[in-house]
Amino acid sequence: MTVLIRKDILKRKVEIYGEVETLSPLRIGKGRGETNPESAASMQILRTYDEKPLIPGSSWKGIFRSTGEKIAKEKGIFTCTGLTKQTCMDRILGEVQKLMSDDVEKAVERVWDDTCINCKIFGAPSLYSAISIFDSVATKYTIGYRPMIAISRDTGAVTKSALVTTEYVEPGSIFPFKLIGNNLPNYAIGYIIKIMRYINDGLVQVGGNKSRGFGFVTFSKLSLEVTDYEVKPNDKEGKLEALDEIDKEVSIELPKDVKGKEFFEKTKPLEEVFNHARILFPQSNLH
Ligand SMILES: [Zn+2]
Repeated sequence: MTVLIRKDILKRKVEIYGEVETLSPLRIGKGRGETNPESAASMQILRTYDEKPLIPGSSWKGIFRSTGEKIAKEKGIFTCTGLTKQTCMDRILGEVQKLMSDDVEKAVERVWDDTCINCKIFGAPSLYSAISIFDSVATKYTIGYRPMIAISRDTGAVTKSALVTTEYVEPGSIFPFKLIGNNLPNYAIGYIIKIMRYINDGLVQVGGNKSRGFGFVTFSKLSLEVTDYEVKPNDKEGKLEALDEIDKEVSIELPKDVKGKEFFEKTKPLEEVFNHARILFPQSNLH
């Protein structure tokens, strides 16, 4: 039943890939301290060594996790914040390590029972992520510049050089997108797809300057590939068996190279499995 968090067995590989197009300005800024101090009046975007705009996989993961938190809340299930020292694993790490030395099965069960869906899918200390999202390096882009008032992050005050030039990626720019997951039950695939739909529908913005209307994106050329390693005779492509007892089997036509809207229509049954799944973890947060 614990297949989603098992790394020692390989039941299923999931790939979701396609393109992301920016519908509004997009700004993935450099972290604090990474900006060139010589150009204090310019807020630079993240770029690769050859100057192409970049959305790091870690940024995607952060966006997916926080969007997931919102979706989980709507469904009435608990998720931790995922912040350092505040994950579900941080609470049970000591006990799990003790269990590991004499009963690995019990340790795995303990992790299963006491971690939220985000820790299971996106990872936590001593719990590897079930998915990885690749860095997105822009394949088509134009850079825009906009003067903005700088507010000091420390004091909330307007800084001396109040007017700074902010760099961003213009609407109509294209980034590739690729996510790989291992051992994802249908409800977990549905959860991830629902997160992508929230981003696609503009319910979630990507990057900075959200209050200025930045960060709206849409997915296109999307494909979903699911490879089950234990294929039974007569199994057809698109028949996705239930991987654990809260999961449900679905049969769908796997979307290939389609627009966001069509992708989310074709994968609706997976989203439905998530919507109806009785998620009974973490047990300590059940009422
Ligand atoms: Zn958690």
